[in-house]
Amino acid sequence: MKKWGFTTGLILLLLVVAIFKLIERQETFGERSNPAEDGIVRTIAPIKKGEHLEITEERLNRGDLLLVNRDYPVRPQGVKSDVVDLFGQPELTGGASLLDGGIRLSREVALKFAAMTAAAGEDGVDHFLISSGYRDEAEQSALYAEKGAEYALPAGYSEHNLGLSLDIGSTEGKMSEAAEGRWLERNSARYGFVLRYPADKTEITGIGFEPWHFRYVGLPHSAIMRTNNLVLEEYLDMLDEDPDISTTVGGRDYEIHYYAPDRLSKLSVPANRDYSLSGDNRGGVIVTVYL
Ligand SMILES: [Zn+2]
Repeated sequence: MKKWGFTTGLILLLLVVAIFKLIERQETFGERSNPAEDGIVRTIAPIKKGEHLEITEERLNRGDLLLVNRDYPVRPQGVKSDVVDLFGQPELTGGASLLDGGIRLSREVALKFAAMTAAAGEDGVDHFLISSGYRDEAEQSALYAEKGAEYALPAGYSEHNLGLSLDIGSTEGKMSEAAEGRWLERNSARYGFVLRYPADKTEITGIGFEPWHFRYVGLPHSAIMRTNNLVLEEYLDMLDEDPDISTTVGGRDYEIHYYAPDRLSKLSVPANRDYSLSGDNRGGVIVTVYL
């Protein structure tokens, strides 16, 4: 009888542990979708019945997946053309506070940010503070002169110069500890954003851990990067090695086709599907197909 009680107890304990693991996973990623599918990549065939597309120099240097770091500077065409002032525009800030009145960002990115903070608000996390957005050359130069090479990048080498990145803080304390920081680390990939400079990737990014710096790359790329623990440098290398992949994120299927510089003459886009293009700032192009 005693043994029977022990076995029942053990089974109950294992059940409780399993349920907690499941809840933890739901919280970590994909509560609005099937977490097992989110961001897992499969190799597929290249686009077969596509239309060839001649890529112009301008188009090659545009898009949400441009890599900007110490080796790849911002090109003028890469700067988002829809940079706007955020001050007095709650539809673009989602109720986040602004550190000052001069903060600017790509309008498209700001709308994604507002959707993300609205979701955080539903989880009771609503003390976001935007401390920096788009910086033009003069602002980046001033920051570099003020903070030095250890804390800032020279003009033309910062993602902030693209309009795709923003520094997000919390009015409740340090981002590494505040609920806002923890929520974003767990959930931002679902809204197209990535924590660009994680603690365990400093050798690859060349930048120390920045729990406040988020970069917009768009879906499904953010989910793939998050699921596979890749920073942008690693993600582009992965695509270079495995240029035709598919994935499911939030119940939606995507195909991704990468064209390295020496394959641009073969670039094709699907005839009957929505797609978007982005350069990678290394001479390659990513075609994202929405199925
Ligand atoms: Zn930043």
